[in-house]
Amino acid sequence: MRKNSIFRFGLLAVLTFTAVVPANGQRRRGGPPAAPRLEDLPRRPMDTIATADPETKVIIFSNNTWEYYRPSLERMDDLPVYRNNWDTASVFSYRNIELNDLPSVIELRMIDSISQFCCPVQGKVLSKYGPRRRRSHNGIDVPMKVGEPVLAAFDGKVRYSRYNTGGFGNLVIIRHPNGLETWHAHLSKLNVEVGDYVKTGQVIGYVGATGRAYGPHLHFEVRYCDQSFDPEHLFDFEKGMLKYQTFALERSYFNIHSRASDELDEEEWEDQEIANTLLAEADDSTTIRAAQPKPAGSGPVYHIVRKGDILGRIALRYGTTITKICQLNGIDRNGILRLGQRLRVK
Ligand SMILES: [Zn+2]
Repeated sequence: MRKNSIFRFGLLAVLTFTAVVPANGQRRRGGPPAAPRLEDLPRRPMDTIATADPETKVIIFSNNTWEYYRPSLERMDDLPVYRNNWDTASVFSYRNIELNDLPSVIELRMIDSISQFCCPVQGKVLSKYGPRRRRSHNGIDVPMKVGEPVLAAFDGKVRYSRYNTGGFGNLVIIRHPNGLETWHAHLSKLNVEVGDYVKTGQVIGYVGATGRAYGPHLHFEVRYCDQSFDPEHLFDFEKGMLKYQTFALERSYFNIHSRASDELDEEEWEDQEIANTLLAEADDSTTIRAAQPKPAGSGPVYHIVRKGDILGRIALRYGTTITKICQLNGIDRNGILRLGQRLRVK
């Protein structure tokens, strides 16, 4: 094969070369002129080396650099990670694996020279991972404008992309080569289909407020074998950065009370002022209109109080104010909302 003969030629050239150049390539005081720096040398592929992952090879270049190489996407269909427990009809796909079956620490390689990271959205986390009243919040919420693009965090394959009636609304789940899954909920529009291979940074959908959402935001989860953990262990959403190149995922993280930081606890996030300020920062008049569940009509509009409702978010959702809702219903802004309570919002 022609390629092989190029490799062999390159190998020969480098062997000859390394024989005459000192290993460190530095200029010696009073000695001969400095040898060319390795990075200035021509960079030709010389050889490939197998790795523990059968689909990943290391390519060695003639200037002593190397990088990972993976074959074409079609061949990825054969990878166990994209074949086993691959359920495209349900959000969960590891029904045969229990939490206790997982090792106490799972080492996840997040990025390398051929696969990089891109933050799905960049912004302040309004609602953190953790217990939320009587339910669990299995991900984080970043308020964004409707229509903002949501990007693939890593290379991967789309396992789920459709409207989910369980509350997620339009949901895209991507499985990545290391087995991690990223979930993107409440999207206004889906931009990928099940089975698509996506590259880091590819637009997979657009921010919205579909499903059980109080306003436009990205609800984002990370899961391994269906088990969720706090995405803030891995990502800094405000800076748009990945925290680890290789991440030691401890089994103890698969617990709704195991959070990456204790900066703010649940009570503070339930505080109306914080919620209002953050949502107001993220929204503009367009998104408020888009988030309205009903067009503004002439008659009164009512809202039935659900779990987790607070006046600030109800007001935002209907494009009104807390004061106005309190006036319409004769209630106090610091009073407690009852589940099922009917509030006139317009
Ligand atoms: Zn959420």
